[in-house]
Amino acid sequence: MSKKSVRDLAVRGRRVLVRADFNVPLDDRQSITDDRRITQFLPTLRHILDNGGRAILMSHLGRPSGKPEEDAKFSLKPVAARIEKLIGKPCRFAKDCVGPAAMEVATALKDGEVALLENLRFHKAEDIIDKAKKNPDGKLTAEQDGKRVEFGKQLAALGDMYVNDAFGTCHRKHVSMYDVPQLMPKGARAIGFLVEKELKYLGQALQSPKRPFVAVLGGAKVSDKIGVIKNLLPKVDKVLIGGAMAYTFWAAQDRGVGKSLCERDKLDLARELLASAGGKLILPVDSVAAAELKAGVATKIVDGELPPELMGLDIGPRTIQAFSAALESAGTIVWNGPMGAFETRPFDAGTIALAKTIAAVTGKGAISIIGGGDSAAAVEQAGLAAKMTHISTGGGASLEFLEGKKFGPVEVIDEG
Ligand code: AMP
Repeated sequence: MSKKSVRDLAVRGRRVLVRADFNVPLDDRQSITDDRRITQFLPTLRHILDNGGRAILMSHLGRPSGKPEEDAKFSLKPVAARIEKLIGKPCRFAKDCVGPAAMEVATALKDGEVALLENLRFHKAEDIIDKAKKNPDGKLTAEQDGKRVEFGKQLAALGDMYVNDAFGTCHRKHVSMYDVPQLMPKGARAIGFLVEKELKYLGQALQSPKRPFVAVLGGAKVSDKIGVIKNLLPKVDKVLIGGAMAYTFWAAQDRGVGKSLCERDKLDLARELLASAGGKLILPVDSVAAAELKAGVATKIVDGELPPELMGLDIGPRTIQAFSAALESAGTIVWNGPMGAFETRPFDAGTIALAKTIAAVTGKGAISIIGGGDSAAAVEQAGLAAKMTHISTGGGASLEFLEGKKFGPVEVIDEG
């Protein structure tokens, strides 16, 4: 069953409380340096306003410490100004997300108007569920739970309807994501267009992929991707492994990895994964290596095992060729994690080469889904973002989705 969409809500004259993701980067002068998280949300906002809804927007920004003198830089005020500029209409701003300031702004809104509430994380209750993991029993204390319940009630009182369009936080049971929708009337809880798009592409890839289905996984650690590999193996035709995590698999096969990043305590696990993969896991055959990870360092292409004095920092040309050949005929491609230490040149070459191949294969009809975070950054860096089918807006969230985890905040939304 699919989830109710904002398109299915009768928003006219109603206060629509929307959880968005405005966790944007700001410079020292509180200027937004990348507003894509705001622009990507605009279709949902425009839909509500054009249909006479009263949009009350809420989000987190960064990780405030709780000390007012340090936290001014986490204010969402610059986001309200950017929204005004982008939609050409005023965006009211409430200097607190709950209490009289928020209620005053919410009740003053007229049809087709928008307001933004101050950073949800200025209240510790918002993500107290994560903080409670540090408690001796890992559970919320009665006091913490009381705060969570009270904060949820105060937020929910601001709206008549609820929309979740914050995909990047969908794997977190934070109050604004999980508790607030449960306090809203049945039939008045929907997802926005951004979350809808993410669930559609990621869901289709896992449930009914166009074949062959090829996953490309990279990055530093196998331990971060175990869940993804285990969940994907039965579903995919091939998994191409690059990045430093490939060396843990090499070491598990007793192949020399030199000074490369390698998780020695995960060798048994790597052996288990290789044994259960039935030949679907494809490892690199060569590396671009150097004595250290530093820009401008002398590099060497090493075929096969690495000598003790070198570390593998990118996939080599033969691997690029082999991986590209495997991607050439793919119907669906899911990519998460860079093929090398791509932030430092020239170790970005393998990642960029694969990004180019994936873009070209997408042009021929394949569906390409790029996980958020580093892979999305690499694709942007290569100027290829527009050529991919879908670039996820949530790094952690897309990874958990690929692990097959359920998203509590999405489960509590009404069925469509
Ligand atoms: P992850 O967060 O696990 O996706 O890992 C991403 C990080 O892995 C990036 O910062 C890359 O620079 C790093 N990385 C990928 N391959 C290598 C490698 N061969 N050696 C060192 N770092 C790497």
